[in-house]
Order: sequence, then structure tokens, then C-alpha cells
Amino acid sequence: MARVELESISKIYGDFRAAEDINLDIADGEFLILLGPSGCGKTTTLRMVAGFIEPTAGTIRIGGKDVTDLPPWERSTGLVFQNYALFPHLTVAQNVAFGLEMRKVPKAQIRPRVEEALQLVRLGHLAERYPRQMSGGQQQRVALARALAFEPDVLLLDEPLSNLDAKLRQEVRVEIRNLQQRLGITAIMVTHDQEEALTMADRLVVMSEGRICQVGSQRDLYDHPKTEFVASFVGRSSFLRGRFSGGKFISTGGLEIVSDRKLVGSAVMAVRPERVRIANEPVAGAANCFPGVVEFVSYMGGSIDIHVRLNNEDVVIAQVTNNEGLELPGVGDTVHVAWSSGAAVFADMPKS
Ligand code: ATP
Repeated sequence: MARVELESISKIYGDFRAAEDINLDIADGEFLILLGPSGCGKTTTLRMVAGFIEPTAGTIRIGGKDVTDLPPWERSTGLVFQNYALFPHLTVAQNVAFGLEMRKVPKAQIRPRVEEALQLVRLGHLAERYPRQMSGGQQQRVALARALAFEPDVLLLDEPLSNLDAKLRQEVRVEIRNLQQRLGITAIMVTHDQEEALTMADRLVVMSEGRICQVGSQRDLYDHPKTEFVASFVGRSSFLRGRFSGGKFISTGGLEIVSDRKLVGSAVMAVRPERVRIANEPVAGAANCFPGVVEFVSYMGGSIDIHVRLNNEDVVIAQVTNNEGLELPGVGDTVHVAWSSGAAVFADMPKS
């Protein structure tokens, strides 16, 4: 069983806190993603689990066993790097065998295990090639085979898809997820790509400046972000700043907004673009409907974002589906945007 527990883990360089007070309990077989902008401490956290970085404080347990002071090769973790880190002078099979030799797996077992690992990633037929004779996607699958060959309890993936082009990234994404589920292996992956995180994870951890901001399912984070940072990092939002007064939210631009959630004092309101309707006329019966002027139209293929300026302070984005016959407003047109009283989420409530 490979539950992974991080208890008050920190990594401090001089007076710089690269990771601070990280607490995570990752279930056996779970796929957890660490998501956050560059420099937020994701890689540091992953490498502490792998054993390549020694925590300044805290305890790491894998399968209930304290591994905090164990070197990487004595932990049951397989690590896949962003740049694959394959040896150029070794064949694919030799690359995969390397980790097994390092871990002193008996010679007779190495060959069948290499074959099995390469079968898992559908590269059995390329065992004798060298890395330079393979595409980026294939090389990344070799790296994955190498990490899986010694049957680790935990698979650690450090931005494994970021060197692949967009199409390949989608394919390898599905492949990694399928493989992880088939093997029932616990996985922790680092990414700064929110789409990747949303499509692959069982649970997401959003990090910023060395700390965990929020942990939850995609839905938790999307529908109930606790902070403006999480709302902006997971999915897209329009943000309106303002304060609650008389049961309504009054934006800095003076809009009176009806919301099911009622707070006290200053707040930031986030509205997801797909929850905003846009029409030429006022929308009858909508809890919130405001006129505005189209400022920008962003064509994204399947959908289109229309940025509507409501006043000097407030801009709301409405996403429309690119259905047949869709008539788009143009920049400068007057339109009406509407959203229900339950559509908005509120984040970050600084004291007023
Ligand atoms: P990226 O997506 O860019 O890899 P990250 O979230 O994985 O970012 P980390 O690599 O964990 O970020 O680094 C977190 C912070 O710690 C960064 O600001 C980095 O500069 C700093 N850091 C990392 N290693 C060291 C070190 N050996 N000495 C000092 N600071 C370090």
C-alpha cells in the first residue's frame, strides 16, 4: 500500500522559504497534481518526496514508513523528469535496465522486467534504438518505462509533458493517466498547466510562494475557490471588486449585484465566463443584468469570449458557444450581460 503523507514539510534556503509547512495526505492509488506558477515550490516539494532534496523540517511517510532520512534509491519512488534525462549512449532497453541495476535487481530478472516495462508504454519494438532515434513523445515514454520498471509504489512526475507539442501532450496525458489507473499506482505530478491539471488529477493542490493555497477536487477548486489567486489560476474568471452593503454587493464601478452568498465588508467577486449570458436586449427575469459596450472579441474556435465593459471599473467576460448561425456583436456595440444570483463565487475577503 502506498499512501504518501507529508507532515509539516519545509525547505528553507538561507532565509528564503522555497516550501513552507506543506501538509498532504495522498491516498493509495490517487493521482495528485501540484499546480502553481513558476517558483511556487512544486518541484521542491516533489523532490523532497523523491529524496533528492532534504527537507529543513517535517516528516515524509510512504506506505506508513518514515522515509525522511532515506536516500532516493531506498524509497519506492520512480521519478520522471521534464527533459526525460535518458542516457544518449545507451539503448532504450539499457536505459530502462539502468534503474534496475542501480537497485541491485538480480541479473536474471532484469531482461523480463525491461521487456514488461517497455510493453506497458507500447515501445517493445524499439528496445534496441538509441534516444536520438526517437521522437520526444517516445523518449518520454521510455523515461516512464524506466520509472515503472522497478515497480515503485509511487510515481513522481515533474512536468513530464512540457517538452511535447500540444497534440502529443494530449495523447501522452491520456496514456499516463490510463497506465496509472491500470497499475493502481499512487502518482504525484507537478505542472503549471491548469488544463493538464484539470483533466488528469483526482485531486489538485494549488501552490503559491512556497505554500499550499487550497487542496480539492477540480470541482471544489473551480466552484469554490477560497482566494482570488485560486480563482484566477483554476479556470478563467472576471473579477469585480467591491463591498457588501444592505445585502447586495456594490462593485467599485457602482453596480448593485444580487448574490445568494452574502458576506460582510470588502470582497472580490469572480464570475466564470460560461455563466454569463449576453444579449442585445435586457434579459428578462435575470437577477443581474447590466448594459455595456463590447471591448474585445476573442475567437477560440469552439467558443468565443466577449469582453464587455460595464463602466470605468468593471469588465465582464461572456463566453458564447460557437453554434451554427451565431451572430457575434462587434467591438463598440452595446449589449447586455446577465448572470444569476448563484453564478458568482467570492474569494479573498480582505478586512475593510
Ligand atoms: P518551476 O515551475 O519554475 O520549476 P517550481 O514551482 O517547481 O517552479 P521550485 O523549483 O520548487 O519552483 O523552486 C521554488 C523556489 O525555490 C524558487 O524561487 C527557486 O528559485 C528557489 N530555489 C530552488 N532551489 C534553490 C536552491 N538550491 N537555493 C536557493 N533557492 C532555491
